[in-house]
Amino acid sequence: MKRYTCKKCSKKEFYTVRRSKKRCKNCGYEFTPWLIEGIRLKRREWKNIIEWFLLERSGVWIAERLGLGKNQTYQALERIRKVITKDVPEVFTDTVEVDETYLGGQKKNKNKKQLRKERELFGKESKRGFGTTKQPVFGILCRSGKVFARLVEDTKAKDLIPIITKKVRAGTKVCSDTYNSYTGLAAKGYVHRTVEHKEKEYVKGKNHINGLEGFWGYLKRKLAAKGGVRRKYLYLFLGEYVWRYNNRDLTLEEQKKKIIELLKFSG
Ligand SMILES: [Zn+2]
Repeated sequence: MKRYTCKKCSKKEFYTVRRSKKRCKNCGYEFTPWLIEGIRLKRREWKNIIEWFLLERSGVWIAERLGLGKNQTYQALERIRKVITKDVPEVFTDTVEVDETYLGGQKKNKNKKQLRKERELFGKESKRGFGTTKQPVFGILCRSGKVFARLVEDTKAKDLIPIITKKVRAGTKVCSDTYNSYTGLAAKGYVHRTVEHKEKEYVKGKNHINGLEGFWGYLKRKLAAKGGVRRKYLYLFLGEYVWRYNNRDLTLEEQKKKIIELLKFSG
Protein backbone atom coordinates (compact mmCIF):
# COMPACT_ATOMS: atom_id res chain seq x y z
CA MET A 1 0.00 0.00 0.00
CA LYS A 2 2.86 2.35 0.75
CA ARG A 3 6.36 2.34 -0.68
CA TYR A 4 9.03 3.55 1.65
CA THR A 5 11.21 6.45 0.67
CA CYS A 6 14.42 7.28 2.48
CA LYS A 7 14.05 10.56 4.33
CA LYS A 8 17.76 11.35 3.91
CA CYS A 9 18.43 10.51 0.27
CA SER A 10 15.00 9.74 -1.26
CA LYS A 11 16.11 6.30 -2.56
CA LYS A 12 13.63 3.45 -2.33
CA GLU A 13 15.71 0.33 -1.60
CA PHE A 14 16.18 -1.06 1.88
CA TYR A 15 17.53 -3.91 3.94
CA THR A 16 15.38 -5.20 6.77
CA VAL A 17 17.30 -5.10 10.01
CA ARG A 18 16.37 -6.22 13.52
CA ARG A 19 12.91 -7.42 12.56
CA SER A 20 10.91 -4.25 12.06
CA LYS A 21 13.62 -1.75 11.11
CA LYS A 22 14.65 -0.74 7.61
CA ARG A 23 18.10 0.40 6.53
CA CYS A 24 18.60 2.43 3.35
CA LYS A 25 20.79 0.52 0.85
CA ASN A 26 22.22 3.80 -0.37
CA CYS A 27 22.99 5.90 2.71
CA GLY A 28 22.49 3.53 5.63
CA TYR A 29 19.73 5.58 7.29
CA GLU A 30 17.62 3.41 9.62
CA PHE A 31 13.99 3.86 10.56
CA THR A 32 10.95 1.94 11.74
CA PRO A 33 8.15 2.01 9.18
CA TRP A 34 4.60 2.81 10.32
CA LEU A 35 5.89 4.58 13.38
CA ILE A 36 4.18 7.68 14.71
CA GLU A 37 5.68 9.39 17.68
CA GLY A 38 3.97 8.44 20.90
CA ILE A 39 1.91 5.58 19.45
CA ARG A 40 3.23 2.02 19.45
CA LEU A 41 1.34 0.07 16.84
CA LYS A 42 2.32 -2.40 14.16
CA ARG A 43 1.69 -1.82 10.49
CA ARG A 44 -1.13 -4.37 10.40
CA GLU A 45 -2.77 -2.72 13.40
CA TRP A 46 -2.64 0.73 11.82
CA LYS A 47 -4.14 -0.60 8.60
CA ASN A 48 -6.97 -2.27 10.48
CA ILE A 49 -7.64 0.76 12.65
CA ILE A 50 -7.79 3.06 9.62
CA GLU A 51 -10.10 0.73 7.74
CA TRP A 52 -12.43 0.18 10.70
CA PHE A 53 -12.43 3.89 11.49
CA LEU A 54 -13.62 4.50 7.92
CA LEU A 55 -16.29 1.83 8.36
CA GLU A 56 -17.36 3.63 11.55
CA ARG A 57 -16.63 0.82 13.98
CA SER A 58 -16.47 1.99 17.59
CA GLY A 59 -13.21 2.38 19.52
CA VAL A 60 -14.28 -0.36 21.91
CA TRP A 61 -15.01 -2.76 19.04
CA ILE A 62 -11.64 -2.06 17.41
CA ALA A 63 -9.71 -2.47 20.68
CA GLU A 64 -11.37 -5.82 21.36
CA ARG A 65 -10.92 -7.06 17.84
CA LEU A 66 -7.19 -6.25 17.81
CA GLY A 67 -6.59 -7.19 21.42
CA LEU A 68 -5.24 -3.71 22.12
CA GLY A 69 -5.71 -1.47 25.13
CA LYS A 70 -8.59 0.98 24.95
CA ASN A 71 -6.30 3.96 25.57
CA GLN A 72 -3.93 2.99 22.81
CA THR A 73 -6.79 2.50 20.37
CA TYR A 74 -8.41 5.81 21.32
CA GLN A 75 -5.05 7.53 20.94
CA ALA A 76 -4.74 6.21 17.38
CA LEU A 77 -8.33 7.20 16.53
CA GLU A 78 -7.78 10.67 17.99
CA ARG A 79 -4.65 11.05 15.85
CA ILE A 80 -6.62 10.09 12.75
CA ARG A 81 -9.35 12.61 13.60
CA LYS A 82 -6.75 15.32 14.24
CA VAL A 83 -5.07 14.94 10.85
CA ILE A 84 -8.28 14.72 8.84
CA THR A 85 -9.71 17.73 10.70
CA LYS A 86 -6.84 19.76 9.24
CA ASP A 87 -7.43 18.42 5.72
CA VAL A 88 -9.92 21.09 4.65
CA PRO A 89 -10.54 23.00 1.41
CA GLU A 90 -8.26 26.04 1.05
CA VAL A 91 -9.88 29.12 -0.44
CA PHE A 92 -13.21 28.95 -2.24
CA THR A 93 -13.26 30.82 -5.54
CA ASP A 94 -16.65 29.74 -6.88
CA THR A 95 -20.21 30.43 -5.67
CA VAL A 96 -20.63 29.42 -2.03
CA GLU A 97 -23.40 29.01 0.47
CA VAL A 98 -22.86 30.14 4.05
CA ASP A 99 -25.04 29.21 7.00
CA GLU A 100 -24.92 28.62 10.72
CA THR A 101 -26.53 25.96 12.86
CA TYR A 102 -26.50 24.71 16.44
CA LEU A 103 -25.43 21.37 17.81
CA GLY A 104 -26.97 20.07 20.99
CA GLY A 105 -30.62 19.66 21.78
CA GLN A 106 -33.43 22.06 22.42
CA LYS A 107 -34.72 22.31 25.94
CA LYS A 108 -38.39 21.76 25.24
CA ASN A 109 -39.62 18.18 25.25
CA LYS A 110 -36.68 17.03 27.31
CA ASN A 111 -36.82 15.60 30.79
CA LYS A 112 -34.46 16.49 33.63
CA LYS A 113 -32.30 13.42 33.17
CA GLN A 114 -31.71 14.20 29.51
CA LEU A 115 -30.93 17.80 30.35
CA ARG A 116 -28.41 16.81 33.01
CA LYS A 117 -26.75 14.49 30.54
CA GLU A 118 -26.56 17.28 27.97
CA ARG A 119 -25.05 19.65 30.46
CA GLU A 120 -22.34 17.07 31.11
CA LEU A 121 -21.73 16.61 27.41
CA PHE A 122 -21.85 20.21 26.29
CA GLY A 123 -20.68 22.04 29.39
CA LYS A 124 -22.30 25.14 30.76
CA GLU A 125 -25.57 26.36 29.36
CA SER A 126 -25.35 28.85 26.60
CA LYS A 127 -26.69 32.35 27.06
CA ARG A 128 -27.97 32.24 23.53
CA GLY A 129 -31.09 30.48 22.40
CA PHE A 130 -33.00 30.93 25.63
CA GLY A 131 -31.97 28.22 28.03
CA THR A 132 -30.73 25.76 25.48
CA THR A 133 -27.38 24.00 25.54
CA LYS A 134 -26.21 24.67 22.06
CA GLN A 135 -22.93 24.97 20.29
CA PRO A 136 -23.00 27.26 17.26
CA VAL A 137 -21.34 25.98 14.09
CA PHE A 138 -20.63 27.94 10.96
CA GLY A 139 -20.30 26.42 7.51
CA ILE A 140 -19.29 27.31 3.96
CA LEU A 141 -20.11 25.05 1.04
CA CYS A 142 -19.23 25.42 -2.61
CA ARG A 143 -21.46 24.20 -5.37
CA SER A 144 -19.12 21.36 -6.25
CA GLY A 145 -20.07 19.98 -2.83
CA LYS A 146 -17.00 20.63 -0.67
CA VAL A 147 -17.72 21.95 2.77
CA PHE A 148 -15.79 23.83 5.44
CA ALA A 149 -17.24 24.03 8.95
CA ARG A 150 -16.04 25.09 12.36
CA LEU A 151 -17.29 25.70 15.85
CA VAL A 152 -17.78 29.40 16.62
CA GLU A 153 -18.11 31.37 19.85
CA ASP A 154 -21.19 33.15 18.64
CA THR A 155 -23.00 33.90 15.38
CA LYS A 156 -22.62 37.66 15.28
CA ALA A 157 -21.11 39.37 12.23
CA LYS A 158 -17.78 39.70 14.06
CA ASP A 159 -17.68 35.90 14.47
CA LEU A 160 -18.67 34.94 10.94
CA ILE A 161 -17.46 37.60 8.51
CA PRO A 162 -13.71 37.11 9.28
CA ILE A 163 -14.06 33.38 8.49
CA ILE A 164 -15.70 34.21 5.17
CA THR A 165 -13.05 36.77 4.21
CA LYS A 166 -10.36 34.21 5.04
CA LYS A 167 -11.92 31.26 3.22
CA VAL A 168 -13.74 32.85 0.26
CA ARG A 169 -12.06 34.97 -2.40
CA ALA A 170 -13.37 38.53 -2.72
CA GLY A 171 -15.74 39.01 -5.66
CA THR A 172 -17.24 35.54 -5.23
CA LYS A 173 -21.01 35.07 -5.06
CA VAL A 174 -22.11 34.24 -1.51
CA CYS A 175 -25.61 32.91 -0.79
CA SER A 176 -27.00 33.15 2.72
CA ASP A 177 -30.29 33.47 4.53
CA THR A 178 -31.48 36.89 5.69
CA TYR A 179 -29.80 36.63 9.10
CA ASN A 180 -28.39 40.10 9.86
CA SER A 181 -24.85 38.85 10.58
CA TYR A 182 -24.40 38.52 6.83
CA THR A 183 -25.54 42.03 5.84
CA GLY A 184 -21.97 43.38 5.63
CA LEU A 185 -20.91 40.93 2.93
CA ALA A 186 -21.47 43.24 -0.05
CA ALA A 187 -19.34 45.91 1.64
CA LYS A 188 -16.54 43.33 1.86
CA GLY A 189 -16.59 42.92 -1.90
CA TYR A 190 -18.79 39.85 -2.26
CA VAL A 191 -21.77 39.41 -4.54
CA HIS A 192 -24.32 38.73 -1.81
CA ARG A 193 -27.60 36.90 -2.51
CA THR A 194 -30.14 36.09 0.17
CA VAL A 195 -32.93 33.58 0.58
CA GLU A 196 -35.65 33.60 3.21
CA HIS A 197 -35.86 30.41 5.29
CA LYS A 198 -39.31 31.00 6.69
CA GLU A 199 -41.07 31.40 3.39
CA LYS A 200 -39.73 28.02 2.27
CA GLU A 201 -38.17 29.91 -0.56
CA TYR A 202 -35.25 27.49 -0.58
CA VAL A 203 -34.75 27.49 -4.30
CA LYS A 204 -34.73 30.94 -5.86
CA GLY A 205 -33.02 30.26 -9.13
CA LYS A 206 -29.41 29.54 -8.33
CA ASN A 207 -29.45 31.45 -5.06
CA HIS A 208 -30.07 28.80 -2.42
CA ILE A 209 -28.47 27.18 0.57
CA ASN A 210 -29.76 23.65 0.02
CA GLY A 211 -26.30 22.13 -0.01
CA LEU A 212 -25.49 23.28 3.49
CA GLU A 213 -28.93 22.31 4.77
CA GLY A 214 -28.10 18.83 3.50
CA PHE A 215 -24.74 18.78 5.24
CA TRP A 216 -26.22 19.96 8.56
CA GLY A 217 -28.76 17.15 8.36
CA TYR A 218 -26.01 14.60 7.69
CA LEU A 219 -23.87 15.97 10.56
CA LYS A 220 -26.72 15.92 13.07
CA ARG A 221 -27.77 12.38 12.14
CA LYS A 222 -24.19 11.17 12.58
CA LEU A 223 -23.71 12.88 15.94
CA ALA A 224 -27.09 11.64 17.16
CA ALA A 225 -26.12 8.09 16.19
CA LYS A 226 -23.04 8.45 18.39
CA GLY A 227 -25.34 9.23 21.31
CA GLY A 228 -23.62 12.50 22.14
CA VAL A 229 -20.06 13.69 22.03
CA ARG A 230 -18.14 15.39 24.82
CA ARG A 231 -17.74 19.09 24.18
CA LYS A 232 -13.99 18.81 24.38
CA TYR A 233 -14.00 16.45 21.39
CA LEU A 234 -16.78 18.07 19.41
CA TYR A 235 -14.40 19.90 17.05
CA LEU A 236 -12.77 16.58 16.15
CA PHE A 237 -16.08 14.91 15.35
CA LEU A 238 -17.12 17.94 13.32
CA GLY A 239 -13.78 17.65 11.48
CA GLU A 240 -14.34 13.94 10.96
CA TYR A 241 -17.76 14.36 9.36
CA VAL A 242 -16.61 17.31 7.24
CA TRP A 243 -13.82 15.08 5.92
CA ARG A 244 -16.09 12.10 5.33
CA TYR A 245 -18.55 14.35 3.51
CA ASN A 246 -15.85 15.96 1.37
CA ASN A 247 -14.34 12.60 0.47
CA ARG A 248 -17.60 10.73 0.01
CA ASP A 249 -16.93 10.06 -3.67
CA LEU A 250 -13.64 8.27 -2.99
CA THR A 251 -13.52 4.49 -2.64
CA LEU A 252 -12.58 2.93 0.69
CA GLU A 253 -9.11 2.17 -0.67
CA GLU A 254 -8.63 5.76 -1.81
CA GLN A 255 -9.79 7.08 1.56
CA LYS A 256 -7.38 4.72 3.35
CA LYS A 257 -4.51 5.85 1.18
CA LYS A 258 -5.32 9.48 1.84
CA ILE A 259 -5.39 8.99 5.62
CA ILE A 260 -2.07 7.14 5.52
CA GLU A 261 -0.57 10.10 3.66
CA LEU A 262 -2.02 12.54 6.17
CA LEU A 263 -0.71 10.59 9.17
CA LYS A 264 2.90 11.10 8.00
CA PHE A 265 4.43 7.84 9.13
CA SER A 266 8.17 7.83 9.63
CA GLY A 267 8.84 5.72 6.56
ZN1 LIG B 1 19.04 6.84 2.15
